[in-house]
Amino acid sequence: MPSEFDLIARYFAASPVRRPDVALGVGDDCALLEVPPGRQLAVSIDTLVEGSHFAKGAEPRSLGHKALAVNLSDLAAMGAEPAWATLALTLPVPDEAWLAAFADGFLELAAQFGVQLVGGDTTRGPLSITVQVHGFVAPGRALRRDGAKPGDLVYVTGTLGDAGLALLAQQGLFVGLGVVEGVRARLDRPTPRLGEGRALAGLASAAIDVSDGLAADLGHIGARSGVGATLHLDSLPLSPTVREYVAGTGDWSVPLSAGDDYELCVTVPAARQAEVEALAQYFACGLTWIGTVDRTPGIRCLLPDGSLLAGGPAGWDPFRDG
Ligand code: ADP
Ligand code: MG
Repeated sequence: MPSEFDLIARYFAASPVRRPDVALGVGDDCALLEVPPGRQLAVSIDTLVEGSHFAKGAEPRSLGHKALAVNLSDLAAMGAEPAWATLALTLPVPDEAWLAAFADGFLELAAQFGVQLVGGDTTRGPLSITVQVHGFVAPGRALRRDGAKPGDLVYVTGTLGDAGLALLAQQGLFVGLGVVEGVRARLDRPTPRLGEGRALAGLASAAIDVSDGLAADLGHIGARSGVGATLHLDSLPLSPTVREYVAGTGDWSVPLSAGDDYELCVTVPAARQAEVEALAQYFACGLTWIGTVDRTPGIRCLLPDGSLLAGGPAGWDPFRDG
């Protein structure tokens, strides 16, 4: 059986991305990295644990992609440009086929966004994956959670609820549609909205990535900014699959409260609306107005007929206990 070191060298030392700001990458006790003059370093870390964040036996290529994608999504939400990643892997056994597939998924996404894997750690134990990402942002330009003001417009990239519906299907709680395959990739291989985040830096007043569900994450902007928001449910961007699901069940919790979509939710001062909407023409994933920031804390949801969604953003959830 190959040693742990052979495996690391084989699968992670050969990062296809070679950045000029990496003086020393994988292989020594530390990586040596150059932050460009005049830029701030944006740093974020996330852990995925088997059984909590992904199912036992999850496909390793998708896991490699997702472990990096959820971190890059945090850089996107700050409007930062990604540069480097480190990877701490805890593995029950050094399984070569698993490592090869995991590395493929991880390094392919890294290459897509010019991210170099510069180091990490490998240990034995229950399967757990920690990724730290590092990016750059001009001082004063980062998209933070605390800048939303009453009257700002709320926008979201892409579509909402796809990953949540795929998770319900995976858990066997929902089998209604033959098109669930269409939303599977959104759960397994989310796309970090990096270009969109950088384009919105300097225009949006606040931003967050939707990892815990729109209502919860917009709620975080509200809490940090001392505001609330009112959402118009008929404006939520939904894929045909999720639209059909909501129409059939009346369950708004999938687009409002399910997590893992990794879209960006941003607030925009009304004075910048025209600029943002002009910019959004270039977003392949789209950017949709969904509501307005107001002074009242919390998130309110207006149904298409103008009435308030009863029970708050979680709405009626057919799968909740009781
Ligand atoms: P040390 O004992 O000095 O921490 P390690 O044996 O943990 O060294 O790692 C040796 C080299 O391999 C280091 O440069 C480290 O960053 C890198 N490395 C270890 N595990 C990983 C991993 N999972 N991904 C990327 N690089 C790794
Ligand atoms: Mg180490």
